[in-house]
Amino acid sequence: MTSPEPAPTRPPTSDRSVPGPEPTGASASGGAAGDVPRIDLHAHSTASDGTLTPAELVRTARAVGLDVLALTDHDTTSGWEPAARALPPGLTLIRGAELSCRWYGTEPSIPLHLLAYLFDPDAPGLAAELARVRAAREVRGERIVALLRADGIDVSWSEVLAYADGGTVGRPHIAQALIRAGLVASTAEAFAPQWLGERYRLPKDDIDVFRAVELVRQAGGVPVLAHPRATRRGLIVPDTVIVELAALGLAGLEADHEDHSSAERAAVRALAGRLGLFVTGSSDFHGTHKTVRLGAYTTGVETYERIVASARGVAPLTGPG
Ligand code: AMP
Ligand code: FE
Ligand code: FE
Ligand code: ZN
Repeated sequence: MTSPEPAPTRPPTSDRSVPGPEPTGASASGGAAGDVPRIDLHAHSTASDGTLTPAELVRTARAVGLDVLALTDHDTTSGWEPAARALPPGLTLIRGAELSCRWYGTEPSIPLHLLAYLFDPDAPGLAAELARVRAAREVRGERIVALLRADGIDVSWSEVLAYADGGTVGRPHIAQALIRAGLVASTAEAFAPQWLGERYRLPKDDIDVFRAVELVRQAGGVPVLAHPRATRRGLIVPDTVIVELAALGLAGLEADHEDHSSAERAAVRALAGRLGLFVTGSSDFHGTHKTVRLGAYTTGVETYERIVASARGVAPLTGPG
């Protein structure tokens, strides 16, 4: 297969199972101080609401000194192949996704995000749910635009689709239209309550979170709850839900994340300890749609090795060399 990318190429089908990262001079089992692999397990590309292409993202990851990067676009695996083709030497790519889920056990229902690593993208149950959610995002996005237009705001669905450029449509793309219309100055401002944060927010038809954990496991993937205690993002699910998810196969909880306060990080660690779950730390990088830097939070190598060891879907991919 020939690649349009200028970087050294590796066919995306040539999965090479690696026991751990193989960075220059770094040992997968930790090693001496300064020798510890840097692992960021949550980042977005233009396949969803990030601003770097998958190829730019993997190159940037290596350039900032990461040894392992997980590509976790919202509800899609479409960035996997271009990221794999552009993998630079020394970087290991964990193919993943961030699933839009919801706990329907209360009214109103509570949205939550499930990171899924190394799952089989062709497993029928999961692939069908991802396609359904992507379609539901388009329905909901178009409705939000209609609400804005009904209030005389000059944004259009076609420009929002153009900002998404074929990737999973999300509110950050509607935010771009609000910026273009001169109504807000930044994506963060577009998420204020008078805009997409509340007044013009509509729920998506998300995946039931219990079903999502089961589908990820059936697809051979490793499910990890993203930012589970981020009260600044809105309502969070009670501990009892996480206890039930753990019984269904949830493997870990994201603790170190910019949307968690230090008390929330500590609460996540305590809950994970009680349930035998591992904890991760990740940037949730979105390019210029957010201010967090790639690699700002990282995951320990023992946790990374647990994820790789328990995955049955696809293998980590290493760059050439
Ligand atoms: P959606 O997936 O369409 O519900 O939009 C949620 C996405 O918007 C998240 O994945 C973030 O990328 C982004 N987002 C949420 N809150 C903010 C914020 N305060 N500032 C910037 N981006 C945000
Ligand atoms: Fe996002
Ligand atoms: Fe998220
Ligand atoms: Zn994310």
